[in-house]
Amino acid sequence: MLLSVHATVGAVIGQNVNTPLLAFVLAFISHFILDIIPHGDRALIQAYRNNFKNKGMKYLIVFDLISTAILIFLLFFFQKLTLSQTVIWGIIGGILPDFMVAIHEITKKHFSRTHKLHYWAHNKLNTKISWIMPLKLALVSQIIIIYLLLK
Ligand SMILES: [Zn+2]
Repeated sequence: MLLSVHATVGAVIGQNVNTPLLAFVLAFISHFILDIIPHGDRALIQAYRNNFKNKGMKYLIVFDLISTAILIFLLFFFQKLTLSQTVIWGIIGGILPDFMVAIHEITKKHFSRTHKLHYWAHNKLNTKISWIMPLKLALVSQIIIIYLLLK
């Protein structure tokens, strides 16, 4: 799922709990629950695994990182989010699993358990249904989810 969805969910969790630790833990857990929902990156991941020179996944990651940074900035700027420790730790907890997975993908040794759990979450439903969600539909639906979360 897009980092911006994970960050938004983490921020919303952070706005609704009292301690940074609880915000972090709940947001961290939420990441894996959200990733169970098919979110359109199956074909890109497969293409990347088949050919590491495939640029589709890299473009999606760059788009994701930039759009998440812009979204978070705008949410604070327009005061849709309160700048607080719980919100910050919620955002960090929400997006951290993807960074741990990226570090594992690069180093092939750190965060193996997180990588396995992340892989499990991604495949939990994806392997049970034959329908592959098109990326465009997934992106639009995730933008709608972010909008509804912040409404
Ligand atoms: Zn993830």
